[in-house]
Amino acid sequence: MAVRSLFRGFGERSPAAEPENVAQFGDVGVILPGDLKRRLEVLEDFEQAGIGWLWASDADGHLIYISENAVQKLEQPLENLLAKSLTALFETDPYNPGERSDRPLAFQLSARNKIIDLTVRFAPGRSKLEERQTWWSISGHPKYDVNGDFIGYRGSAKDITVEYERKLEDSRLAEFDSLTGLANRHRMNRKLETTLAAFKAAKRACSLMMLDLDRFKHVNDTLGHQAGDDLLKQVGERLGRIIGDRGEIGRLGGDEFQIILPDLDDRGKLGELATKLIQIVSLPYALGDERAIIGTSVGIAIAPYDGLEKDDLIRNSDLALYSAKNGGRGQFRFYSADLKDEAEEARLLEDDLRAALLADELELHYQPVVRTKDHMVVGLEALMRWEHTERGFISPGVFIPIAEKSNLINMLGEWALRRACQDAANWPETVRVAVNVSAVQFATPGFPAIVTNALAATGLAPDRLELELTESVFMGDSETIDETFRALKGLGVRLALDDFGTGYSSLSYLRSAPFDKLKVDKSFVDSCTQKDQNSAKIIAAIIGLSDALGMETTVEGVEAFDQFNLVCSKGARFIQGYIYSKPLKLEAALERMSSGEFRIEPEGPDLHRPERRSMFRRIGVIHLDHRYEALLRDLSTTGARIEGLLGVPLGTGLVLDLGGGQLAVCVVTRSTEATIAVEFETPLVSDGAGGLCTRHRVSPYALAAAGMPLTSLPPGKYPTEAMPSAPSSQPQFMQVAV
Ligand code: C2E
Ligand code: MG
Ligand code: MG
Repeated sequence: MAVRSLFRGFGERSPAAEPENVAQFGDVGVILPGDLKRRLEVLEDFEQAGIGWLWASDADGHLIYISENAVQKLEQPLENLLAKSLTALFETDPYNPGERSDRPLAFQLSARNKIIDLTVRFAPGRSKLEERQTWWSISGHPKYDVNGDFIGYRGSAKDITVEYERKLEDSRLAEFDSLTGLANRHRMNRKLETTLAAFKAAKRACSLMMLDLDRFKHVNDTLGHQAGDDLLKQVGERLGRIIGDRGEIGRLGGDEFQIILPDLDDRGKLGELATKLIQIVSLPYALGDERAIIGTSVGIAIAPYDGLEKDDLIRNSDLALYSAKNGGRGQFRFYSADLKDEAEEARLLEDDLRAALLADELELHYQPVVRTKDHMVVGLEALMRWEHTERGFISPGVFIPIAEKSNLINMLGEWALRRACQDAANWPETVRVAVNVSAVQFATPGFPAIVTNALAATGLAPDRLELELTESVFMGDSETIDETFRALKGLGVRLALDDFGTGYSSLSYLRSAPFDKLKVDKSFVDSCTQKDQNSAKIIAAIIGLSDALGMETTVEGVEAFDQFNLVCSKGARFIQGYIYSKPLKLEAALERMSSGEFRIEPEGPDLHRPERRSMFRRIGVIHLDHRYEALLRDLSTTGARIEGLLGVPLGTGLVLDLGGGQLAVCVVTRSTEATIAVEFETPLVSDGAGGLCTRHRVSPYALAAAGMPLTSLPPGKYPTEAMPSAPSSQPQFMQVAV
């Protein structure tokens, strides 16, 4: 009945079409009246059963038939549907999960393809938002008349809304992180893979940033998982605000985030972006009533230079991240070929460090803290020293961060505390001992008990022990922090805030924590006599603040008299720096104080010379079609000093091959004997590791265009190998050995 009634409905609009329409449901051929009747009955039963519906379109793609049940289900008057084009009625889901290979309906129809189970949204002109979504799965095949002319589609359909919406939800869950709403690892992987594949064909670049939060675990442990979740959400929001639509951000799990940045390969811009991300993530977070401070490190790898495929790029950005974390917190790193072994090396170093601790191979050296008015030593700071049996001296700046990643720091810290108290117990009473305490150690429950034991075991008076803390002790649960501070103060030990000015420098710390001393970081002293007048002002401000709060100040890292005079004029009363003494071995320190009086005269250069990065690196110098080997002696953002070429006229244009595909165009500005100075056309940028790099590198695509196989940058001499061989001419300069 339904079939017939609908045809009647359609027939009323176009009576002439009726017999033809009926016939179209059968195969082309002679249709017997009895046969036709049976067919109609079967079709009617099919439609009634609710298994599915039937539809038909004309040669122009307009709907000419639709089952009555379907019309009822859609709650639409039939006139809204008939004679409408199929593509207006149905749209394919652009985000169709799992069926991405499906071509859109319009394409299928115009190609007269057979349609099999295509998921479409019923969309008769209303906007997606206001309407309950209806999803259909449609099938159909093109129909031709006896002359072979296309006359439209015949097909079936069924409502799959419930299943499809469940599938959409599942795939949303499968693609996005439910906590932050960011893409998850699965989606990021697929996105990276498809982006890289498409970009390879289009010779475009794409960067990958890997981020890992510093001290997140601590927040989680001390403030609870709810706070940890809240923190991750806020981090996601902050990242989103910076990145905007420049890239896609994902959370890979835990405290790991990843950012895909298409069409960005300028290392200057990437470095700026990474710095901004680090700064924003490092701002304090409000978590309920608590405040937390974390940091982040960033590793960056860039396609096609550092990898063409997803796995290479991920591995290399991971290596860069690892290196950034090891270099100290809150840094970024670009991938470079020499990072490869760093991760493995740190693992070995950790094992060696543990062995060294057990074998009692670590030492404490002591650096004097001197009162400026009479040059009397008032204290000694214990600094850990490790002479590796094979590799020689390893800086605490290297091994302390490694130890902090494992339980080792607690063992090292306890050892240092005991040893320092033991040593100091034999010193004159006027000389205190200062011991560095890692934030990890400070946060360990039972830390005050460890201090108590060290004092009790050695008999050192508590006020002769000064614990040096950094601002990073303030993240986490403020109640626990307060309790630890109270317990330590209760013991009568002194507390110093180390490296003041480099961290978050929130004055609220000073209000709430009972510090006896602030230590002004060396970085301010380094720059205070340079052009940067702010450093001198900051030193003055810190000393003033500390005086006002009744605290002492020690200025660290004073090496030369210009610095000495400046910091003294700003009110510094205690100085710890090479101008008085480098850290001393215990025996040397004991000898100096054996008379009972420990006094040191300042001694050092008149003027502070900022550390020059002098180096001895072999580089290539390219002039016309000749490549010379030379020695790079000095490198700054704007220029370099190079040795090894004779007779280079001023104003000569050169290209420096700095390795790893880094080519720097420059002009000779000075030339004396075998030394030339050059000025870069484009300034170099920070490589995040205290070094410099070019913004851009030779593109592997350009190398491939010149006949080399397409890979990420191979080691080697780029332009000469990549340039089509030019007619050979005489070299114009003489290369000399240096
Ligand atoms: P810190 O606590 O800020 O120590 C001061 C650092 O500055 C020491 O480096 C010291 O040798 C250096 N220094 C002092 N005056 C000058 C100067 O005039 N010029 C220069 N160039 N350097 C100066 P060191 O010994 O390499 O220690 C580095 C850091 O390692 C320390 O910074 C401290 O944070 C950490 N550390 C050292 N020993 C321990 C330890 O036993 N436990 C913990 N947790 N950390 C330690
Ligand atoms: Mg210190
Ligand atoms: Mg310091």
